[in-house]
Amino acid sequence: MSREGKAGVVPVYYSPAYVAGGPEFDTMRKAEWVATSLGTRPIAGVELREPHPASVQALALIHDQAYIDAVRTGEPAGLAESSNFSWDPGIFGAVTASTGGVLEAAREAWRTNGVAGSLSSGLHHARRASGQGYCTFNGLALAALDGLAQGMRGVQIIDLDAHCGGGTADILRKTWRVAALDIATSAYDQYDAPAGWTLDVIEGADDYLPTLRRRLDALNPEDIHLVIYNAGMDSFEKCSTGGLRGITAEVLAERERVVFDWCHEAEVAVAFVLAGGYVNSRFPKEELVNLHRLTIAAAANRPAAAA
Ligand SMILES: [Zn+2]
Repeated sequence: MSREGKAGVVPVYYSPAYVAGGPEFDTMRKAEWVATSLGTRPIAGVELREPHPASVQALALIHDQAYIDAVRTGEPAGLAESSNFSWDPGIFGAVTASTGGVLEAAREAWRTNGVAGSLSSGLHHARRASGQGYCTFNGLALAALDGLAQGMRGVQIIDLDAHCGGGTADILRKTWRVAALDIATSAYDQYDAPAGWTLDVIEGADDYLPTLRRRLDALNPEDIHLVIYNAGMDSFEKCSTGGLRGITAEVLAERERVVFDWCHEAEVAVAFVLAGGYVNSRFPKEELVNLHRLTIAAAANRPAAAA
C-alpha cells in the first residue's frame, strides 16, 4: 500500500459549496476554516480537490425519497428540519456537496489503495427516514454501500466521534459486509450493536486509547477493503458537547497515529472525514482547527509539529 496515494499526495476533498448555504453552525462552517488553514499553513503532501455533489440517485441508496425531497424543498418542515437545522434553500446544495466529498474520498482511497479525506462533517446520526443531531445525510453509510457496489469485499467504519453513530447502525444494520468500530465518550444516539459491530461508551480517559487498540487488534484486515474513518474531535476535554476530561490534544494526536498506522500496517485503504468538534468561549476556532489538522497530518504521515 502506498501510504500517500499514487503520486505521493493525500487528496482532501473540499468545495466552497460545503459551506455555501445552511445555518451558522460549526458543522456547516468549519470545513472552510480547515481549508483556509491548509492554504496558510500547508501540510506537505496534502492536496485539496473539489468533489462532485452526491446525486439524488446516490442518496436514495441510504435515505427514503420523502426525506431527500424534504431536505431539497423544505416541505414538510418537520422532516426537512429533522437534523435540527432550520431549513434554508442553501442546505441541500451544501449537504450534497459535502456528502459527495465523502463518496469521492472513499473511491479515491480504494482506487489508490491509499489515503484520502474530505472536510465533511455531520454524517453519522442521520437515519434512513430522517436527519438527527445536526446530521442531514449519512455520508458514511453511503460511501460504504457505494464501496460494496464498486466491488469491495468489506468496509469497516471506524467512528471515533464523541457521540454514538446510531444513524449509521439504522441504515446498515442488515448489510453484513459493513461493520463499525464505534468508540464514544457520550451515550447520545446509543444503539444495540449489530453482529460484528462494536460500540464502547468510554467513561474514563485512561480507557480511551487502550480500548481503541484492543478493538483494532480484533479486526481482520482480510475482510476489509476500505476503512471509513469518522474522526470527530468532540471527545476533546474542552468541547462542551461530548468532551471527556483527560482527552487532551496529545491523546487525540496519538489516536490519529494509532488509526492510520493500523491501516498502513494492515494495507487497508482509508478515507477520513472531520465529524464533530464544536467551539465555545474557552475552545476557540483556532484550537478546533488544529485538532482536525492532527487527522490530516497523520493521514499524510507528517509529524504533528509540522501541522
Ligand atoms: Zn459528535
